[in-house]
Amino acid sequence: MRDTAAVEVAGLVKRYGNTTAVDGLDLTVGRGTVTAVLGPNGAGKTTTIETCEGYRRPDAGTVRVLGLDPVADAGDLRPRVGVMLQSGGVYPTVRAAEMLRHMAALHAHPLDVDALLERLGLTGCGRTPYRRLSGGQQQRLALAMAVVGRPELVFLDEPTAGLDPQARRAGWDLVRELHADGVTVVLTTHHMDEAETLADDVAIVDEGRVIARGSPEELCRGGAENTLSFTGRPGLDLGSLLKALPPGTSADEPAPGTYRLTGTVDPQLLATVTSWCAQNGVLPDGIAVERHTLEDVFLNLTGKELRS
Ligand code: ATP
Repeated sequence: MRDTAAVEVAGLVKRYGNTTAVDGLDLTVGRGTVTAVLGPNGAGKTTTIETCEGYRRPDAGTVRVLGLDPVADAGDLRPRVGVMLQSGGVYPTVRAAEMLRHMAALHAHPLDVDALLERLGLTGCGRTPYRRLSGGQQQRLALAMAVVGRPELVFLDEPTAGLDPQARRAGWDLVRELHADGVTVVLTTHHMDEAETLADDVAIVDEGRVIARGSPEELCRGGAENTLSFTGRPGLDLGSLLKALPPGTSADEPAPGTYRLTGTVDPQLLATVTSWCAQNGVLPDGIAVERHTLEDVFLNLTGKELRS
């Protein structure tokens, strides 16, 4: 049982009337990992997550969560899976701390409620009715509610949307702690830095399918070429330099004495360039490696035009 993936989605299809929100999506989430699901607005992320949470039934395909069916086995999964929805689901007059204590009481080994309120900067508004909390406070309460029961697996739908930088960092610390405790985390986000800093694994979803998958580093390495630039005396023999470099690398001199190499920029390439410079009596100045960010990769894959 422990060997099964935390989440296994195969060929998931979900339609709303004429709209195909999810169109044959495959996603496997390993136990104990943090997986970030990225995608443009309307890509099908929330629909996929809500199907894994058992709130929606697939039109086709299969979904297994901790080896179980999220709809048929909802009762078994409820104590083991934490859920943070995009919008509250909290009774408007209930007080923040009261709500969290209520959630804690539903679980056998909950986290300490006061400590959790403190962690997320909610101690001062513990007695505030839900509807009077700011958007960011409601968001933090939703995050606390998702984790208070010490779940094995937690789904966080845009956990830090609308949070100020301090609260975002508190949220990130909480996710890191869950990860360190072996909890599986599946989160959706529009913040590429959030995915880069938290996720072991990223799935980029577009038009209801996963179009790229890997660690943030793998995606940045594979999704686009990187650039190494340096300055030296003008007119270096780039043909000779290119002979020393792996096939697929290109080189140019966009301005006299400024050189730019494009390709797979790795430590070996840097060593080859500096060694060629040494053999040719060149002292390269201002060596800079420009690596593509996850945002570059995301925009390359999903395009730059706005989604409706
Ligand atoms: P966002 O980043 O904007 O939250 P998302 O990737 O989470 O987007 P979904 O919310 O899953 O995307 O929506 C996927 C598609 O399904 C969109 O075209 C959306 O308009 C449609 N959709 C989602 N929920 C419903 C619903 N309850 N009824 C009808 N259409 C829906």
